[in-house]
Amino acid sequence: MNIIILGPQGSGKGTQARLLSEKLGLYYFETGSFLREISLKNEKVRNLLVQGKLVPDEETSSYIQAYLEGKEKYDNIIFDGFPRTVVQYNFFKDWLKGKNARIDIVIVLKISQEESLRRLGARRQDPTTGKIYNLITDPPPQEVDKSRLVQREDDKPEAIRQRLTWYQDLVVPLIEEMKKDVKVVEIDGERPIEVVFKDILGILGK
Ligand code: AMP
Repeated sequence: MNIIILGPQGSGKGTQARLLSEKLGLYYFETGSFLREISLKNEKVRNLLVQGKLVPDEETSSYIQAYLEGKEKYDNIIFDGFPRTVVQYNFFKDWLKGKNARIDIVIVLKISQEESLRRLGARRQDPTTGKIYNLITDPPPQEVDKSRLVQREDDKPEAIRQRLTWYQDLVVPLIEEMKKDVKVVEIDGERPIEVVFKDILGILGK
């Protein structure tokens, strides 16, 4: 089964994707961190990421295709943050078809713009472990020294605005497009992590 999880920044899709991958034994493909890895060696990608801009469709698609082909992995994947545009989706759909695979379900976590801004402003990363926390919804355990946590470059206000803009302009129309040929389930993402997770499991019949 291939699952796509989408939602505005701060909707908790990364958290839910990780929980689902653990529970269902799915391979977790996290587009943001995959591209951050590429950005270490590619200055153009790095500049786009820091500004909160999308990496061009063709580039993103071919990086992902090459990566999955290298692993020969086409099924039992949870895709967090890909596809994010109609162009990426059309490419992806055709590519999967060629591998005898498909998208089984799309989960969209819905949160308001205000909540998205509130959560992203509270997001912190542990520079040593890479673990992401949220001071409001998912605070670090007591043993973690909060003063050590840093804010991701693209969680700063200007980049957040950029990311919310392309969500509205590109991802929202994509969700409508996907509804034409895949099961798309929209879920209220403003509830606690475990409540949202239970809801998703129910939808998946697990
Ligand atoms: P995320 O961690 O999912 O918020 O993604 C971090 C950043 O990676 C985004 O702000 C974009 O710059 C880039 N990115 C993530 N997913 C995609 C995608 N599907 N297409 C192009 N760029 C992306």
